[in-house]
Amino acid sequence: MESILFHLIFLSLKLISVYGIEDKKVLNLDPETQLPDPNDPNIFYIPIIHTNDIHGSFYPKKILLPSGKTYKIGGLEYLANYIHIMSKIWGNRLLYFDSGDQFQGGIEGYISQGKIIMDYFNEIDVKKSVIGNHEFDYGMEFLKKYMNLSKFDWIIDNIKNKTSGKYITFPHQKKSIIIEIEGIKIGFIGLVSVETPSSTKASITDLEFEDYKKIVEDESTKLKNDGALAVIVLGHVGVYCTNDKNEVKLKYKLRDKMTAQGDCNKKDEAYILLNKLNENVIDLFLAGHRHDIVHNWINNIPVSANGKNGKYTQIIYLPFDRNSHKLIKDKIVMEGPLPICEKLFENKLLCDLAIVNEKDETNFGELLNYKFHDQIISREEKITEIGNKYLEEFNKYDKDILTFTLEHLESTKIRENALGNFYTDFLRQISGVDISLVNAGAFRTPLYRGNITNATIHSFDPFGSNIIKFKAYGWEVKKIIEQIQMGKHALYPISGLKIVINKKYKKLISIKLYDGYKESEFEDEKEYSLVSNDFCFPLKDNAVGGDDFTTVYQWFRPRDKEKVIIGKNNNSRDLLIEYLRNIEQLKGDNHYNLEDQRIRIVE
Ligand SMILES: [Zn+2]
Repeated sequence: MESILFHLIFLSLKLISVYGIEDKKVLNLDPETQLPDPNDPNIFYIPIIHTNDIHGSFYPKKILLPSGKTYKIGGLEYLANYIHIMSKIWGNRLLYFDSGDQFQGGIEGYISQGKIIMDYFNEIDVKKSVIGNHEFDYGMEFLKKYMNLSKFDWIIDNIKNKTSGKYITFPHQKKSIIIEIEGIKIGFIGLVSVETPSSTKASITDLEFEDYKKIVEDESTKLKNDGALAVIVLGHVGVYCTNDKNEVKLKYKLRDKMTAQGDCNKKDEAYILLNKLNENVIDLFLAGHRHDIVHNWINNIPVSANGKNGKYTQIIYLPFDRNSHKLIKDKIVMEGPLPICEKLFENKLLCDLAIVNEKDETNFGELLNYKFHDQIISREEKITEIGNKYLEEFNKYDKDILTFTLEHLESTKIRENALGNFYTDFLRQISGVDISLVNAGAFRTPLYRGNITNATIHSFDPFGSNIIKFKAYGWEVKKIIEQIQMGKHALYPISGLKIVINKKYKKLISIKLYDGYKESEFEDEKEYSLVSNDFCFPLKDNAVGGDDFTTVYQWFRPRDKEKVIIGKNNNSRDLLIEYLRNIEQLKGDNHYNLEDQRIRIVE
């Protein structure tokens, strides 16, 4: 009797759970146009999954909505499920590549010394990869140890040792290579940004990063002579492109060159390179480094990039004629950006609300499970298990709640933003100076609505830079600001000033002191106190500043330079953790201000 009752209860529970799922709506992530077919009688497709700039982000991030509901974004266990579903459909035709900046950044990378990310890549058998500039941040020995753990190859074609003049040899590293799939040979070239020496924290002065054009041309010729039917560049080299005019945000789609994105930044490295290449040198560029989503054709070459922190991926389908084996370049299609999430908002088909800039969550609709190529996206258990090994350590940081915010603070290089204002205000406040300014890369992740934890800040500021106070005359400050804000890596967040810049004439038009309440005159001959980090203004006298500060260092050296130390805290991350611990709730009115118009850009 007892067992019958048990079985009845068990059966009804089972029915509830089955019907519970079936009742619930499941969203469908499928393009309006037809997907490439593995059995297409005329075309042999080779699909390529691409990621870049994962930056140590392994676990999904939990975000609070104004209503108190939460949702999750990212998570390599969901990315792995996309790959799993694709490999079920395409078998060993499927390739997966990553364009670098793998482990540095997120707290997960930090607590596992990068191992959690390597375990992920090894488990899903990434075919080929290239290193990013931030792979150097912990020094060369650390990087070599990391690469040594890989069960896949790294392709690097443009790094030389300055002393020997020879190309570097890192563990599991190769120069350009060919992969053969059912008789079709594809060549790969690997490039690492020439910006690396000025954009990593480590000193790598003994390495030379060669410019790309000649290498790409030479390697492409070699690969083609060896029978490559298509040549792909895997590059930790970036470009920013605007969205299509008709779209507010880039939506998931299957695109070809007729439905590509809008215009791109003509100053960006990848844009310059792609426009210098003749037709048929390369057939696909898998980019990274700029942290933007690119889903575009530049000079007729398809380009993919997936933002940062494992929130998106894209699939590029290379079509080969089944008879001639030739690549049919006009028929290359790109699927994505595919959102990497536990669930999607019904009305947006997204979980990345930061990019839709909407305040009213009722417009988002319900959070629902979703299908990709007819399969419900769920956790890939093997990857979840990898994460479980580090969960206890992660929780130590994640359960240490510093403060909370009901606003979403995101940074952008396009305009003044709340995150940059908050961060520079914090620096100015703790160090009691007139002016603060930092590189946009001083902080690496948004501050999402909800709790701000010790883990949040470890991902936000993985470097833990030294904070540097110094003095400069008014005229020097003006020249510094003009050079950096017109530079390649602008915009630079500032506090203590209101400036107007004309980008077209590369001029600083006006500058006023601004303490957050009132403006006052800025004087050329007066000496001001400034604060920044040691990436912009290094501690060592013989070092040069990073990003556009390399230009500043051609004529300027900070005076009366000293480290900002408060109590036991002497780096930016620990200083910020203690600062936030003393704030009950982080609010625009009290702790940063977007309405300031500190940086106005006029044409
Ligand atoms: Zn990066």
